[in-house]
Amino acid sequence: MNRIVYVNGEYVLEDEAKISIFDRGFLFADGVYEVTSVLGRKLIDFQGHAKRLARSLSELQMKNPISDKELLTIHRALVDRNDLVEGLVYLQITRGEADRDFAFPENVSPTVVMFTQEKVMSDSPSSRAGLKVISIEDQRWARCDIKTVQLLYPCMGKMMAIAVKADDAWMVKDGKVTEGTSNNAYIIKGNRIITRQVSNEILNGITRSALIKYAKSAEMIIEERPFTIEEAKSADEAFITSATLFATAVVDIDGTKIGNGKPGQRVTRLRELYIEESMKTAL
Ligand code: PLP
Repeated sequence: MNRIVYVNGEYVLEDEAKISIFDRGFLFADGVYEVTSVLGRKLIDFQGHAKRLARSLSELQMKNPISDKELLTIHRALVDRNDLVEGLVYLQITRGEADRDFAFPENVSPTVVMFTQEKVMSDSPSSRAGLKVISIEDQRWARCDIKTVQLLYPCMGKMMAIAVKADDAWMVKDGKVTEGTSNNAYIIKGNRIITRQVSNEILNGITRSALIKYAKSAEMIIEERPFTIEEAKSADEAFITSATLFATAVVDIDGTKIGNGKPGQRVTRLRELYIEESMKTAL
């Protein structure tokens, strides 16, 4: 595979794309990212991702080097040039290239990189079988609301899950679930969807906001509060949301089956609803 990728204003073949060894993304993880899913060649929730990108940059005192309009043009061009039907566009902006120093450099140009990845999402094996998760301690830094590229602890969490033949890990802080390694976490009790409220302790998922809106319009009640692993184990259903997994059932937590151990009716409906509704505003 030799994709066409975007690097600082140019479209180049992936094996010709280059970034400096002095890039602060490489040296300090001084950068932010977004992942926008592509379904039927269209971008899902693009505006939400563009808005969160602007917020992440501003929280790190980085200038936004790109307008939403330009961003959309590049996303669309990458989808077209790579003939991407289903998958994602990954975007990363770092503070740029400067001699190594902890202090933020002045007058540097940010590095902007974007590439596509093919991924089966609409009818994925995980959506049919559901996910097995384990619980682990949340050992991340205290600004999880900023979508930075410093993802080592989530990678370690994913590996802890894989080591015990699970799919992912839910992180727990002060006895309550924060979120998954790369997704937001929910439980369902009757007609109520329970999920942790937005704060510095979780990433404000774009899929989360959209799903909450659609669930409310489908007469479900949203309760934004933390929950424990014990409460999750006895819930009717559990699920996660993220740009590429949409809403996907969680069927096992630390070896305890949720419901009958298969994706439940409500999660299945929420997933369909999310795909249906988000396609209406896809670009
Ligand atoms: N929480 C974390 C820690 C994430 O890394 C992600 C996505 O990467 C999410 C939640 C879900 O966010 P979104 O729905 O915007 O993909």
